[in-house]
Amino acid sequence: NLMQASGPRELALSMAGIHHAFGKRDVVKGVDLEVAPGEVVCLLGPSGCGKTTLLRIAAGLESLQQGRVVLDGQEVARPGGNTLPPEKRSVGLAFQDSALFPHLSVLENVTFGLKRLPGRERRRRALALLEQLGMAAHADSYPHMLSGGQQQRVALARALAPEPQLMLLDEPFSSLDARLRDQIRDDTLHVLKKVGAATLLVTHDPEEAMFMADRIALMCDGRIIQMGTPRELYCTPNDPFVVSFFGEVNELSGVVRDGVISTPVGNVEAGWLADGCEARVMVRPEALQVAVLDAPRESHRYSHVVMAKLLGRTSLLHICAHGPDGEEAHVHARMPGVFLPAEGQPVTLRLDPSQVFVFPSLAAAGPG
Ligand code: ATP
Repeated sequence: NLMQASGPRELALSMAGIHHAFGKRDVVKGVDLEVAPGEVVCLLGPSGCGKTTLLRIAAGLESLQQGRVVLDGQEVARPGGNTLPPEKRSVGLAFQDSALFPHLSVLENVTFGLKRLPGRERRRRALALLEQLGMAAHADSYPHMLSGGQQQRVALARALAPEPQLMLLDEPFSSLDARLRDQIRDDTLHVLKKVGAATLLVTHDPEEAMFMADRIALMCDGRIIQMGTPRELYCTPNDPFVVSFFGEVNELSGVVRDGVISTPVGNVEAGWLADGCEARVMVRPEALQVAVLDAPRESHRYSHVVMAKLLGRTSLLHICAHGPDGEEAHVHARMPGVFLPAEGQPVTLRLDPSQVFVFPSLAAAGPG
């Protein structure tokens, strides 16, 4: 029998020690994950890292092979044993391609899961949700009369209507074009927070995760690499994978001497690494502050601009950087606004240390 599990605090979802394989292929390799009531947690990671599989296990759409799943204090599955079916779990599901019932109106789609409520209450609740998602005017429309974004909103309202303990959303915005997506993300987050729904949301888009999440679980190859607030992952990444997943990064290397690594773009503090240690230095393009140098003192040894492009809110610069000892590196810098020095223009570089991350290189981390 499935048992009532008691924890120190009631979590909306607790998954522990989850392993999952398809055939001989391990897809989830030991994941622990908790979602507190009212919290939005994003499962973020590249395609194929196991996000959807985890979500499906939580929903009961995938059998539990190993580990423990507790929904709102109730153990809902045993490995190889009893499983509470998806429709008996208090979860709301909305997937990328969540199809609406084509023969039902928008209102009927949203009231579909509310059969146990009296008719008037059913209608009141559905209309309130449609209102919050800007769809009240379309209550009597049929799905084929709606745009993709409108259908997405209705699918979300349908999932929210039964007031589930937990919302499970798998790439719910990915079929929308960029401008519409921002608007619907905004509305969705507003509604999730207003109704206080605990949410587990799958996305491969770091910006979406940072916008939606109270906490992000960044996955790679079946494991959670780092779990924390968007700020923790962005500002204090614990692994090179975390740094590179949040955007382009310049990869440099160097050796620690007296607590400092000298690189072509400047010195980097690394006092926490042993002297002589080889290190990987990851420099975000926005870490490089570029200044035009009018009269280079040593004309043969300066950093210079290779290419400058205006991207809109920022300018992207390709720079050939020269270090004090003659070492050279090709790096990308990103400056706010319109900053377009000419090709060949000598420049100086300053490093913002908060956007530079140092890790011992693999060879140095190994034994010996
Ligand atoms: P995506 O963003 O592409 O959906 P994901 O991180 O959600 O990726 P999953 O969908 O969980 O990844 O898939 C993880 C791996 O398991 C993938 O390589 C996928 O091909 C494989 N996989 C998923 N479902 C099955 C299945 N039913 N049978 C066999 N392999 C599967």
